[in-house]
Amino acid sequence: MAEFNTDVLIIGTGPAGSATAALLSSYGVENVVVNRYRWLANTPRAHITNQRCMEVLRDLGPEVEAEAYLHGTHQDLMGENIFCESLAGEEIGRMKSWGKHPLSRAAHQLASPCHMIDLPQTFMEPILFGAACRRGTQARMSTEYLRHEQDADGVTTTVHDRLSGREYDIRSKYLVGADGGNSLVAEHCDLPFDGQMGVGGSMNILFRADLSKYVAHRPSVLYWIMQPGADVGGIGMGLVRMVRPWNEWLIVWGYDINQPEPEVTEAFATGVARQLVGDPELEIELLSANTWTVNNKYATHMQKDRVFIMGDAAHRHPPSNGLGSNTSIQDAFNLAWKLAAVVRGQAGAGLLDSYSEERAPIAKQIVTRANQSIEEFGPIFQALGMTGGTDIEKIRAGMAARTDATPEAEAQRAAIREAIAFKKYEFDAHGVEMNQRYKSGATVTDGQAEPAFQRDAELHYQPTTWPGARLPHVWVFDHDSGEQVSSLDLCGHGAFTVFTGIGGEAWVEAAGAVGMEFGLGIAAHVIGPRQAYVDHVGDWARASEITDTGCLLVRPDHHVAWRADKMADDPAGELRRVLTQVLAR
Ligand SMILES: Cc1cc2nc3c(=O)[nH]c(=O)nc-3n(C[C@H](O)[C@H](O)[C@H](O)COP(=O)(O)OP(=O)(O)OC[C@H]3O[C@@H](n4cnc5c(N)ncnc54)[C@H](O)[C@@H]3O)c2cc1C
Repeated sequence: MAEFNTDVLIIGTGPAGSATAALLSSYGVENVVVNRYRWLANTPRAHITNQRCMEVLRDLGPEVEAEAYLHGTHQDLMGENIFCESLAGEEIGRMKSWGKHPLSRAAHQLASPCHMIDLPQTFMEPILFGAACRRGTQARMSTEYLRHEQDADGVTTTVHDRLSGREYDIRSKYLVGADGGNSLVAEHCDLPFDGQMGVGGSMNILFRADLSKYVAHRPSVLYWIMQPGADVGGIGMGLVRMVRPWNEWLIVWGYDINQPEPEVTEAFATGVARQLVGDPELEIELLSANTWTVNNKYATHMQKDRVFIMGDAAHRHPPSNGLGSNTSIQDAFNLAWKLAAVVRGQAGAGLLDSYSEERAPIAKQIVTRANQSIEEFGPIFQALGMTGGTDIEKIRAGMAARTDATPEAEAQRAAIREAIAFKKYEFDAHGVEMNQRYKSGATVTDGQAEPAFQRDAELHYQPTTWPGARLPHVWVFDHDSGEQVSSLDLCGHGAFTVFTGIGGEAWVEAAGAVGMEFGLGIAAHVIGPRQAYVDHVGDWARASEITDTGCLLVRPDHHVAWRADKMADDPAGELRRVLTQVLAR
């Protein structure tokens, strides 16, 4: 007999689990979240928070978005990505990253109402978890998932209360495994994975020390350090990462995975910190140290009937490109509205199949990208004549050679410049972050071909309203107040939205009628002169890719479900046809 029932049980309060709980509670769906520990993140692992992730927080509400900006380090302090011998030593080069270059910043500003921030996981998790609990999530800490069984009507999950030592069952309609890279839920579902765990060894050393004199004039999140051993294991090179400017830091340093795991004692950690900072007298306040492995593994299917996996449970990869928590939160944004629609009886269970169809290709993409980014440090080592090098004199000789007035040295300088600039695929890959387009039963293209990418799809975001793509952001203007409002603010928040223009009012009526029929609130906006929202600049007319009498139907996760270029003979019939398919009714 289950101790209690709920609609959705979530295992894990990391970014994926907390985001799912916050979204479900915002949509009014009963949920319980458990965590085997009594605390939220106690180390600041994830930090790069991209625009798409910020859009999810914005969708959760202005107070959630504002809290993230309040605690995050501003984009302006993130982007002087430095490559150097040590913080105190010679700088080899730098690349403007995370939208720091003016051209990249313009692309960021055009793409989203939100900007990137650096938000350590120790801040992100309490924001999401707090929002979830305030809105109705029941949280049980010190509660460990042990196993589950599912039947035609639901899932019975057995957990272990670590306070009392008691085991008990929770009954839910659905179970979400957001239980991280060693996911037991994924294992118990026997879900298929490609790739390999443990392809490299790495360690984190978290410490406090005021390093302002080395960094404040070249503000960055990441300082890459070229030292003997920097190309062994780890994430491509030694890293000194800003956690809080400029007195809290995380060193990421590799070790050979084929050798025994090093014991990261206080003396060892201090030694690594002194070596990478380049100050043999440096005193640090060591906060924590641990080892971890670089993984290259992703689920090719993320669902077994009533059970879903998300976040690191489904995609296990190094932190390169800063995609882990961002992608985990976007998994949640994809699944939560679907669970809500099915639990409320507005959609058939078939809608849930689209979660894996849409997110498994993203899992593969980001795991592959993150691991490739490690490899792409290779040309920097090669240009400096350091391959497999542990010889500091050889490295120094290689670095000195680049200062000669010879054709060879000039070629070396060019090779270093080129190798560093190429790292934009890790540190300024706006397309990887923003170009996610879905192909599944929950989008209806009516045969419209997917627009080809005009530029490198990993580097550059390309807006489109092709069904499956995220609705492009443009600013429109509130007719009464004159305030600018993002197109993304007009959709989402758990509801489907219809957009049309002057002459398209029949779509609004149709949305009302079909929404009533399906027991679904569908928001509707006519954008144009003297309407509630006005397109003074003409950006909406360009971005919407439909005529004024046309229609965009946007899903609760901001992705376009369907579009019609112009008024249909039977707009209600069209919306009924499309929503029947999308919602698997
Ligand atoms: C050094 C480093 C830097 C990183 N930088 C970035 C970055 O800049 N940007 C980014 O987006 N990502 C980054 N990441 C990755 C990011 O930390 C992860 O992708 C993210 O934490 C995944 O979130 P999650 O919720 O899926 O899993 P986790 O954060 O691992 O959370 C798992 C949750 O499940 C709970 N749990 C596990 N097993 C059980 C069980 N049996 N019973 C109950 N509860 C259980 C855990 O206690 C925890 O609450 C970085 C990672 C590292 C190591």
